[in-house]
Amino acid sequence: MSACLLVVPPLLKCTTGPLLGPAMLAGAAAAAGHDVDVLDLNALHLTGALGHGLPPGRMVGDHDRPVGLLRDVQRAYVAQMAAHLPADPGLLDEAPALTLPYAHAAIAAAADTLTATPWADRLDALLAGERRPDLVGISLLYAGQVLGAAVVTRLVRRRWPGVPVVWGGPHVTALRDEIARDARYGAAADGFVFGYAERTFVALLDAVGAGAPWPQAVVRAGAGVALDAEEDAAVLPRFDRLGVYASARRTLPAQASRGCAYGRCRFCTYPAVEGAYRALGLDGLEPIVRQAHALGGTIAFKDSLVLPARLDALAQQVAGRVPWAACTKLHASLDAARLRSLAAGGCATLEVGLETLTAEGQLLIDKRQPLGLLLGVLDAAESAGVGMVVNYMTGFPGADPGAEADALAQLRAELARRPGLLSVIEHNRFQLERRSPLGREPERWGLRVRGAWPWATVLAWEAAEARAAA
Ligand code: SF4
Repeated sequence: MSACLLVVPPLLKCTTGPLLGPAMLAGAAAAAGHDVDVLDLNALHLTGALGHGLPPGRMVGDHDRPVGLLRDVQRAYVAQMAAHLPADPGLLDEAPALTLPYAHAAIAAAADTLTATPWADRLDALLAGERRPDLVGISLLYAGQVLGAAVVTRLVRRRWPGVPVVWGGPHVTALRDEIARDARYGAAADGFVFGYAERTFVALLDAVGAGAPWPQAVVRAGAGVALDAEEDAAVLPRFDRLGVYASARRTLPAQASRGCAYGRCRFCTYPAVEGAYRALGLDGLEPIVRQAHALGGTIAFKDSLVLPARLDALAQQVAGRVPWAACTKLHASLDAARLRSLAAGGCATLEVGLETLTAEGQLLIDKRQPLGLLLGVLDAAESAGVGMVVNYMTGFPGADPGAEADALAQLRAELARRPGLLSVIEHNRFQLERRSPLGREPERWGLRVRGAWPWATVLAWEAAEARAAA
């Protein structure tokens, strides 16, 4: 038996409950007889800033969060990190502490000085409350957690010399090729795991316990290996320490599929990070529904995209015992009858990736969704009482800003025209992700990469028009 501590570093804007990835690893390890704890430093950071007992938001799932409060917490976090980083090179839209447009040396230097701050002392005090583990795993969803992970790694090495640290999660998976070929990433962690990893994690804990070599899928930086970890989506996730979350209403994550059944959007990295689409059995859902029900909580399905027939199956299985949320794609079959049936089964919020209403934008990203299709789904959602989160982007390469602003205003007007519809626009600017189809072949789409950095998954870019003008 091995003892492992799984750590979630700050900062994620999520107050309602645990992450699915670490919970799956904890469930897999516990089922194999290992001793695993999840230390959610992100949740503790947020409760430190916001306190406990935040009232439920209007939406269920990922969008049940106090947006304004979290923005303030993020702003303070970014300022704290920025004080240790070089000046902003000004090539990316988002704060550099969240995107990391820096070389290895600058990030390592920032992590070194951050480790000597009172903030790191507080993290260290939390580690001091844990037993010495045989292994520490750190889960990263995006670049904004890398500095936190680097500080935690330094604290672990200082407190428990000789305990190996392994990094995994979607952000690490998105950088798999770079990590496989560049030994400099090895300063960050002793090993890296790419993709869903329940089986590999158990094999790693077995190996650590036996003093045996690590599984091949736990990769050393620069070793030239970018193997996928082995998954076991059938394990039951283990949700521990639920008292650390700031929101009064708990949301438990679940999954009905992995990968995306559409998988074509040219800005998106999910297909590259998650692998091919596979539907999962729903047997493991029942214990999660019961636990969420006992907590008076909700469930968020973390699938990239739940197909309409799968939504039906979820509604049947949950049977209205807890409210739930899922992400799907606009489809004509999401009509009023179907949405009423989903609502009866507990579906409270649906998230859809509209991305853009401009014809040029839809063509560029290969996601053609006519206005009529959107309006039909909005009408159906309004009549069924299902809330809608509409993901929208502006700033697409080559786009006319005026046309983009008009299209966004049209979306806002359509939502305002439906007072009975609970709706949110999740508006972001386009980012060029290095593992997206656009990021893998930028020249093909008229883009030129102006900057790439080791721990940033987003690339700085300019459009062909900008080059021509220059
Ligand atoms: S944006 Fe959504 S639908 Fe498109 S490929 Fe990504 S996960 Fe799939």
